[in-house]
Amino acid sequence: MQIIEKIKISKKDLRKIIEESIKNLGIEICGLLIGKIENKTAIVKKIKFTPNVSESPILFTIDPLTLYETYMEAEKRGEEIIGIFHSHPSSSQPSAIDIEYMKLNPIVWLIIGIRNKEHYEVSAWQLFEGKIQPVEIVEE
Ligand SMILES: [Zn+2]
Repeated sequence: MQIIEKIKISKKDLRKIIEESIKNLGIEICGLLIGKIENKTAIVKKIKFTPNVSESPILFTIDPLTLYETYMEAEKRGEEIIGIFHSHPSSSQPSAIDIEYMKLNPIVWLIIGIRNKEHYEVSAWQLFEGKIQPVEIVEE
């Protein structure tokens, strides 16, 4: 895996993810970001919400079948899974559990921290060479 410095996502897609996170405050929402990586930039072409198998406010588990189907679909279009998104009922910093999974999935992790309907933050991270690196979000 290479280092990713930026993630480009449409305003519309980011809005959808934030709105879904606000709507489901009692449970972490999650999903996959599909697209391409060019010049250290992850370009999101499609977002896919996936069920949170854990149905938990502090944990998320992407349904393995959905993950597999998304991977196959992306591959057909010459794209790949470039990121994972999920929400937190607090800050958008990766949790200790997230960091463990980031080691296994060194793609972009987009986290939506919802404190309440009016106060939220969005940030993106990648675990690269053992360190958590911030990824700049570019809205288009
Ligand atoms: Zn998390």
